[in-house]
Amino acid sequence: MRPSSESLLDTIAALATPLGRSAIAVVRISGDRVRDVLSSLAPEAGPFKPRRPRLASLRDADGDPIDEGLTTLFAAPASFTGEDLAEISVHGSPIVVERLLRAIVAAGARLAKPGEFTERAFRLGKMDLVRAEAIRDLIDSRTEVAARVSAGRIEGALSTRLEGAREDLLAAAASLTATIDFSEDVGEAVDPGVSARLSSARDALSRLAASYDTGRLLSAGCRVAILGRPNAGKSTLFNALLGTARAIVTDVPGTTRDALEATVDVGGVPVDLVDTAGLCETDDRVERIGVARAREEGERAAAVLYVFDASEGLTGEDRANLDALAALNGKPVAVVANKIDRLANDADLPAAALALCGLAPDAGARLRALLERTVAADVSSDSASEVLGSLRQRDLVNRAKSAAADAIDALERGDSPEYAATHVEAALAALADVFGETTSEDVLARIFATFCIGK
Ligand code: GDP
Repeated sequence: MRPSSESLLDTIAALATPLGRSAIAVVRISGDRVRDVLSSLAPEAGPFKPRRPRLASLRDADGDPIDEGLTTLFAAPASFTGEDLAEISVHGSPIVVERLLRAIVAAGARLAKPGEFTERAFRLGKMDLVRAEAIRDLIDSRTEVAARVSAGRIEGALSTRLEGAREDLLAAAASLTATIDFSEDVGEAVDPGVSARLSSARDALSRLAASYDTGRLLSAGCRVAILGRPNAGKSTLFNALLGTARAIVTDVPGTTRDALEATVDVGGVPVDLVDTAGLCETDDRVERIGVARAREEGERAAAVLYVFDASEGLTGEDRANLDALAALNGKPVAVVANKIDRLANDADLPAAALALCGLAPDAGARLRALLERTVAADVSSDSASEVLGSLRQRDLVNRAKSAAADAIDALERGDSPEYAATHVEAALAALADVFGETTSEDVLARIFATFCIGK
């Protein structure tokens, strides 16, 4: 259990569902005073029994009716937070919710900060920090794959994997300590099993650290800019990828003067797709701004879909644009030869380009497959197993991995086992931090501030 701070003594309340008109809205209350708050909200209802939902008339401090609410009490410690907790479902009106929260505050609670319910669950030992972060990631997930990976993490899949490495390290530490303690009697021979356990921990941690690239892609996604000369078919491809007619498609060059954005699910990666004005030399002042923005988008995006008109072939301008993109330090550029329906023979097209007709029904699926190869190549295999969810986890896991590797090196060099033991301690300390056991208050505050209110 984490040391508790003063604010942990308060009883907190928040709306747990989005604010707005809806069928129902759920308000949560957690803390020592939950039962008192319920008796002042529903004076006629008598004491609530844990886990027995009841429909009760809710009243404000003056005794005026607020609404009827389905009220469920969860008694400590068998609740989400580990404290007494109540969930009240009322009709989803912002006015009802506001009056209810006001009555709850009048009865002795205060409004919760973002993530404060989950923070309490973590501090009271209901979950480790890896699972707490996974709850936020699940709520924030933008694709099915990302949601599935976060749900697995909440169930403890990643924690179990990390625990496995920790057990290896603990076993190695115990054996090294015994060797050190008895070295005077039995010499300094280290049990060969120690190296095996350290290697197993190092390899598992190394795989996990590498999985963060996938974890980051699944949560943060990436930006892909569609670039090309005016009229090449950028907006048509943008719409084909979206499956809707979002961008205005016309045969007047330069119609897309501003950048349009939409998110598409590409193999589990939320890709923020940006349709841009064409890249070309122009005298039109407004169009020139669009061209400048397209260039900026090309620089900002993680990858580029470059479109050219196959019926015209790669023009000098296309080549110059592609050269400029190639100079952007290894940014992946997928090239599409569009309008092949207007082409008698496609022998002259660059071999690496995907040749298609943007207006054909299969264009969306083929472009999605191209994008998947470009930005999400490793995701499908990685997301089947455990992936790290945050940079914080990645840095600490890397630190633990390096320390395990240092311990192995020390043993291989034949250094005194104290050296290896010190490195193993460092690895264990980094893992304790991953789980939140030793994480500083500053870092915890920063993590929970990224949650939504009511979670
Ligand atoms: P952008 O300026 O690059 O965004 O190009 P648009 O997507 O607005 O397309 C310009 C014109 O080309 C429109 O009239 C489209 O209908 C047409 N177009 C786009 N893709 C194709 C294609 O594959 N074949 C044919 N024949 N016309 C296309």
